[in-house]
Amino acid sequence: MKLVILGAPGAGKGTQAGLIADRLGIPTISTGNLLRAAMQQGTQIGQKVHSYMESGKLVPDELVIDLVRERVGQSDCQKGYVLDGFPRTLPQAKALSSFAQIDAALSIEVSDEEIERRMEGRRICTKCQATYHVEDNPPKVAGVCDRCGGPLALREDDSREVVENRLHIYHEETEPVKEYYRQEGLLLAVRGQKKLADTTKLVFEALGISL
Ligand code: ADP
Ligand code: ZN
Repeated sequence: MKLVILGAPGAGKGTQAGLIADRLGIPTISTGNLLRAAMQQGTQIGQKVHSYMESGKLVPDELVIDLVRERVGQSDCQKGYVLDGFPRTLPQAKALSSFAQIDAALSIEVSDEEIERRMEGRRICTKCQATYHVEDNPPKVAGVCDRCGGPLALREDDSREVVENRLHIYHEETEPVKEYYRQEGLLLAVRGQKKLADTTKLVFEALGISL
């Protein structure tokens, strides 16, 4: 199954993408994580994207498209994959259609107010990039990653100002992507719930997969 997960920053795309991917035994491809990894490794791409990401702007289309095209061509993607954070613009969606046949695009709908509350409590593992929330999805030990024991931190681009900027960009650039998939007959939408597990239930129901 080849899936696209859509939703505002902080809507819980990454978490749901990970759960779906684990359940189906396919990889998650998160462009945000790929880009952050490139920055940490100091690759050429990493150096180029730093200033965009820091201010919450979108990285140029060509760059992300190339990154994803290369990633889905790798052998572990044969059976399918879950795309998290891509496509985020109409040109990205059209490019994706040219090299992959997507089975469904699932949109997780959350209000802007709720997004702002969530982002303030969001934490990310500095080693393996697993995400947590201090109230909604806390790690077993505060500040420590359940998966790898790495230290958790606030993401550089989760400050209030940057969050507002990212939300604005989401409405301008990414909502048209939802419309694109609606017209293709591939859009599924679920309303994000307060509790993570409740959202997961709706997501799995929408996709027709058992938990
Ligand atoms: P979130 O899901 O919280 O918005 P991500 O980790 O997906 O966070 O993305 C963080 C940043 O990475 C974005 O603000 C943007 O700068 C960059 N980025 C990620 N995916 C894309 C994409 N598909 N197109 C352009 N920029 C992207
Ligand atoms: Zn970790």
